[in-house]
Amino acid sequence: MTSLSASGSSAPSGPSTPSTNFATDQVHAGLTAGEAQNPAVVPIYQTVAYEFASFQSAKNIFSLREVGNLYSRTGNPTQTALERRVAALEDGVAALAVSSGQAATAVALLTLAKAGEHIVAARQLYGGTVDLLADTFADFGIDVTFVDQDDLEAWRAAARPETRAYFAESIGNPINSVLAVQDIADIAHSAGVPLIIDNTIATPYLQRPKDFGADFVVHSATKFLGGHGNSLAGIIVDLGTFDFGAEPERWPQFTAPYPRVSDVTLWNAFGRERSAFLVYAKTKLVHDLGPSLSPFNSFEIIQGIETLDLRVQRQTASALAVAEFLGSHPAVTAVHYAGLEGNRWFAAGQKYLPKGTGSVFSLDLAGGEEAAERFIDSLQVFRLVANIGDARSLVIHPPTMTHSHLSEEQLVEAGFSHGTVRLSIGLEDPADLIADLGRSLDLLTFESLADSADTDSAGTDSADTDSAQSYATHA
Ligand SMILES: *Cc1c(COP(=O)(O)O)cnc(C)c1O
Repeated sequence: MTSLSASGSSAPSGPSTPSTNFATDQVHAGLTAGEAQNPAVVPIYQTVAYEFASFQSAKNIFSLREVGNLYSRTGNPTQTALERRVAALEDGVAALAVSSGQAATAVALLTLAKAGEHIVAARQLYGGTVDLLADTFADFGIDVTFVDQDDLEAWRAAARPETRAYFAESIGNPINSVLAVQDIADIAHSAGVPLIIDNTIATPYLQRPKDFGADFVVHSATKFLGGHGNSLAGIIVDLGTFDFGAEPERWPQFTAPYPRVSDVTLWNAFGRERSAFLVYAKTKLVHDLGPSLSPFNSFEIIQGIETLDLRVQRQTASALAVAEFLGSHPAVTAVHYAGLEGNRWFAAGQKYLPKGTGSVFSLDLAGGEEAAERFIDSLQVFRLVANIGDARSLVIHPPTMTHSHLSEEQLVEAGFSHGTVRLSIGLEDPADLIADLGRSLDLLTFESLADSADTDSAGTDSADTDSAQSYATHA
């Protein structure tokens, strides 16, 4: 009989394998492994493993001599489509998708540095990255020096013979800091090591770090790439720029024989163009530690990426409009948005992010935590959610939530106060966002005036007195 596949063909679908017994049919009937289909959209390959064409082909795939699907912990065709798409958007040679942004950062850095070695990182990093570098990497015996990302001298002075990577974010959170990527790349290269950029908040639409000398990019694809707040994912991109062969003794993981596969040296077999870096990351770290991305989440991120530029354009334009509005409101003491003239990173923004500085930024309220609480609880369109890069507009209070582990000194160093509120601008009509913020700010101004009037007349209510004092201190 003809072999009909179980696809949605207009011909009726009959059994595709010669009739066997029930228990055999229930696991084999209806599938011809490897048969080509013609879907218009990347399918979800919900399979753990793959049927090899032959004994010899399986042997070749296991020994890295032939490219092919093996087992979904290290790769899946839906994930491969995502990797190719992000590699193209970042102008890289290859990418590796993993289960979260945290996994992407961890795997990228562990590919470069091991116990006894050293990393230089910006102090202004995502909280989870600070925990990973300062705490878990310390447990692993990897030392990290944190520097103020604007202090080029500090970046330069931090290099040591055992340094293996420089790491920073192109746009920081919560205060929309803009990294001088080119300067840091130059410093990393004079130290003989690559620069890894976390490009989560910028996305390749607003900046391709490769244009400014970076060597690797990581993303929390959970945020803008996915864009709808429904799936965790992370991705590492090899931009194909760093030459591990220039100082082979410094990078034995790539330039010495790979103990896992006899007769293979990754740098000779894969080099820059086929990313020895990611072959190691995948066949050692993802294989051993297991932070694999599911086919379903790969599919969700691919769907998100198909509208990336439209979303980021809208979100960035709305963010600028919201930031301008906030700057004109009397209840707001500062707006931390690099797209505003007068911001300390305005010039850097023009150079590194000419299409805009993204849509995650902060404002400061005069009344500290108490004002932030009243402000956030009265918002109706913005949702109190610990996430960014969603289709919805989100709000959070970093000092008591996302950055609550920071000491008082670290808060000041990070450039924010107890009245700092972070916004992530979504896809709603910007007029509704401005109206929502305006309503809550007006309420705050009104309540503060009422509070201080009470305090003036009675002078006995200690809670009100405290709030008036904190208002005065921060104003
Ligand atoms: C969220 C985030 C991460 C971590 O990503 P997950 O997907 O949550 O693991 C890393 N870097 C930045 C800048 C982030 O915003």
